[in-house]
Amino acid sequence: MKKKICLLYGGKSAEHQVSLQTAKAVIQALDHEKYEVHPIFITTEGAWVKGPLLNGPVEDVKQLEFHSGETVAPTALSTSLSEADSGYDVVFPLLHGPNGEDGTVQGLLELLNLPYVGNGVLASAAGMDKVIMKNIFAQAGLEQVKYVSFIRSAWQDAPEKCYEEVETVTGYPCFVKPANLGSSVGISKCTNRAELEAAFAEAFNFDRKIIVEEGVIAREIEIGVLGNDDPKCSVAGEIVPKTDFYDYKAKYQDGDTALVIPAEVSQTVYEKLSAAAITAFKALDCAGLVRADFFVTKEERIIINEVNTMPGFTPFSMFPLLWKHSGLEYPQLIEKLVELAIEKHKEKQ
Ligand code: ATP
Ligand code: MG
Ligand code: MG
Ligand code: MG
Repeated sequence: MKKKICLLYGGKSAEHQVSLQTAKAVIQALDHEKYEVHPIFITTEGAWVKGPLLNGPVEDVKQLEFHSGETVAPTALSTSLSEADSGYDVVFPLLHGPNGEDGTVQGLLELLNLPYVGNGVLASAAGMDKVIMKNIFAQAGLEQVKYVSFIRSAWQDAPEKCYEEVETVTGYPCFVKPANLGSSVGISKCTNRAELEAAFAEAFNFDRKIIVEEGVIAREIEIGVLGNDDPKCSVAGEIVPKTDFYDYKAKYQDGDTALVIPAEVSQTVYEKLSAAAITAFKALDCAGLVRADFFVTKEERIIINEVNTMPGFTPFSMFPLLWKHSGLEYPQLIEKLVELAIEKHKEKQ
């Protein structure tokens, strides 16, 4: 019997397009002899649209956007198969950013008692909010840059006070980020007050809460973590952006950012990185997968930047490439994630 896998993709998020690319790649890699692929496209307005069964790869992401398909209520997920069927064997939320990577969809899947790939409600929510994540990492003893956060209403009431606080806590250069987002959307690097003012306005377009971090000069190194109770690390990979920093354009449009895998780091640095990645995984109570992003300074300080609970997942994205170089090809990685999802679900019953 084929396993029924439901793919959720698109999403009401600034990372909608990234998710479509991921979905196309996952559909391509799935063994269609083994899996029956049930697609659900989530529009940018948040409508859930069921598409026809996919029996093979798709040529173009446009084929995945079912604007004229059957719209279903998210809660219909558990009953949307025919009566005779017991339901989906597993749901794969291929969603990045708010309304998908942040625990909301995971909460729905919990209520529907469906096995799903990746992190649960708590890890997803805490991992999406950079302020909460950093507070938990601090408590776990992980080294981080200095940071300070603001909510929109406080900024509207007293902008000068906010800017002064940034200048006291982080100074320049600093990075201003929406608290809940990814793919570098809404992020600016600032070197003076005028840039800071513009960066606040930009980041508050995306979120009611923002974080400002001290800018560091360091190498950017990432590690993949895979597992449930006994997580394992991939080799490390380095990002070498050709731009000032690894912004949205560098990530998805220019394609000329170099990913060096495995990263050229000493065994000692690799061991520190992987220990920190596991500490981060456990601190957030992660499951399935995480990509941990670090800064490594010239003095070999290991500073954690963030984790991503549903990292970029096309075959050209860092997370799958890290596993490929660790001996797990893209189709096997997907298989492994499905196994971990089913294992986690069984443990909860
Ligand atoms: P994603 O989820 O796609 O990894 P994101 O939107 O969560 O991205 P970050 O990873 O926090 O954003 O930051 C994006 C990029 O900005 C980093 O890869 C790095 O190039 C740069 N950057 C972010 N914070 C800092 C910092 N404190 N110092 C120096 N560079 C930074
Ligand atoms: Mg991120
Ligand atoms: Mg992300
Ligand atoms: Mg990142």
